[in-house]
Amino acid sequence: MGKAGGDSRSLINEQGLRIDGRKIDELRPVKIEVGILRNADGSAYIEFGKNKIMAAVYGPKEVHPKHSALPDKALLRCRYHMSPFSTEERKNPAPSRREIEISKVMREALEPALMLEDYPRTAIDVFVEVLQSDGGSRCAGISAASVALADAGINMRDLVAACAAGKVAGQVVVDVDDIEDKEGQADLPIAIMPSSNQVTLLQLDGQLNDEEFNKAFNFAVQGCKQVYQLQREALIGKYFGRSEVPEGGQ
Ligand code: ADP
Repeated sequence: MGKAGGDSRSLINEQGLRIDGRKIDELRPVKIEVGILRNADGSAYIEFGKNKIMAAVYGPKEVHPKHSALPDKALLRCRYHMSPFSTEERKNPAPSRREIEISKVMREALEPALMLEDYPRTAIDVFVEVLQSDGGSRCAGISAASVALADAGINMRDLVAACAAGKVAGQVVVDVDDIEDKEGQADLPIAIMPSSNQVTLLQLDGQLNDEEFNKAFNFAVQGCKQVYQLQREALIGKYFGRSEVPEGGQ
């Protein structure tokens, strides 16, 4: 989305609160559920504010066409798609340039966390279906996909947690929603592998000076860490039947 960069002062009020009442360093409410699709090998559902997104994983499985198989590792394929009813105006269901780009960056964001070398000559397919979008859908989709991959039992080095920060009404804020994305001045989505502190996605739409970039990056990392806790709680809740996360445990 292009950044208007216009007068967006009303996006933050005199008390420093945003249009939906959040503080500048506050995430939207996040809910993650694991293993909700019977016919996928792994699945997850995420609500990130008003975003509602399903992620489904198939594999490791036989590769078609066969010549695209890799001799030393699994082929990871990702498809990010927005349903026609996910946006205010009906969205054409055909893949747009934006969806093709997001599918690519999503694959690149997830791949470092996966031990693809354990599954040579196979394919792992990740489908991310946006049922309702409200800004930040690529981050929410990556976070859900990583949980779905864990649910599928794929060997992983780490989860991948994603969150954006941005600049709205001249201020750096975490977790930019749709209206803030459209009327704000910058959007910085990032994904990290929280255990090893590695960045696997970093994009920037709009402009930030050095100081703003550092602040936004730190806000986004803090957001990712909160998402990571919720990812772990969702997985532990599914597999161990409890919601609390053991101190320092996996
Ligand atoms: P992200 O969802 O990762 O923030 P963008 O910054 O490209 O990705 O998009 C921001 C938001 O703009 C989306 O979450 C969605 O709500 C809206 N949007 C994107 N594409 C369309 C579209 N084709 N029609 C209507 N709204 C869209």
